[in-house]
Amino acid sequence: MHPAHDSGQKATIPKITLNDGTAIPRLGFGTLHVQPDRESSPANVETTASVVGIALEAGYRHIDTAQAYGNESGVGRAIATSGIQREELYITSKLANRNHRPDDVRRSFDQTLEDLGLDQLDLFLVHWPLPTQYDGDYVSTWKAITGLVAEGRLRSAGVSNFQPEHLERIVAETGIAPAVNQFELHPYFTNHAACAASTRHGIAIEAHSPLGHDGKPLADETIAGIAAARQKTNAQIILRWHIQHGHIVIPKSSRPERMRENLDVFDFELSAEEIASIDALDKGASGRSGPNPDTFDNLRF
Ligand code: NDP
Repeated sequence: MHPAHDSGQKATIPKITLNDGTAIPRLGFGTLHVQPDRESSPANVETTASVVGIALEAGYRHIDTAQAYGNESGVGRAIATSGIQREELYITSKLANRNHRPDDVRRSFDQTLEDLGLDQLDLFLVHWPLPTQYDGDYVSTWKAITGLVAEGRLRSAGVSNFQPEHLERIVAETGIAPAVNQFELHPYFTNHAACAASTRHGIAIEAHSPLGHDGKPLADETIAGIAAARQKTNAQIILRWHIQHGHIVIPKSSRPERMRENLDVFDFELSAEEIASIDALDKGASGRSGPNPDTFDNLRF
């Protein structure tokens, strides 16, 4: 084995157990915007394979991709060339908005597995609920995803950007709670309603855009003050705040030094006062950097 792939040389990333009994690393690598656009062109495959390959070298073992990112082939190439054992890796993908109909769920999932070069995916998420599309029928989509688990091709079924009412409905109509809800969550948008509804149903909370996506929370003065006092970076303080709240996090960086920095958050503890001062930065709905799931309806993704 290549020395860099010897997991004994890397900090171990703790895992949490999901409501279906499987375990997920609490910190993973986000791949949105790793390539310049969403085309699966040869140049983009190469770019994504290179960046994700560097992340794997740095010690990431949990990778977050999506059909809509157009980068599953690049992630697949990075996995294939890494030499890392399949069971050491945790791979998440997400159903594109254009694929919500049950037949398209199955067809596109086959393509996802092929592009990633995998026989089984660890976690597959309904990327957006799209309550204003498909006659509002995200329940059939959810059922089709859970069917993939029953077939053995998927270990865990989850959702993304599901609001409390969307969670209530799929649980009430199918009796199956998602293992994970991945949604926008960071110090400027603490998203209490989605957190509370997820927790109520035993659904693990996964923070997308955990650093805020647009750099604003990263430049916050309160966070900078805590970082200076603790000799950590602003990003490490934000990621540690998530970890202590029990969130799974998937920061994205294309820069190797930041990839390493973002992994290095398991050797210190924020005080209750520090956590409370970061909680207080919440800006409510105006802190959101991405689309609102109640109205987002873009089927191009
Ligand atoms: P993040 O919150 O991870 O922020 C990424 C930005 O922060 C990039 O501009 C990056 O720049 C910069 N950055 C990363 N690390 C550092 C650091 N240590 N110091 C300073 N700047 C840093 O945003 P994302 O929106 O990418 O979210 C992460 C992942 O979540 C995505 O990649 C994707 O996998 C997932 N996601 C899911 C969504 C969904 O709908 N389910 C929606 C959005 C994201 P640089 O690369 O130059 O370092």
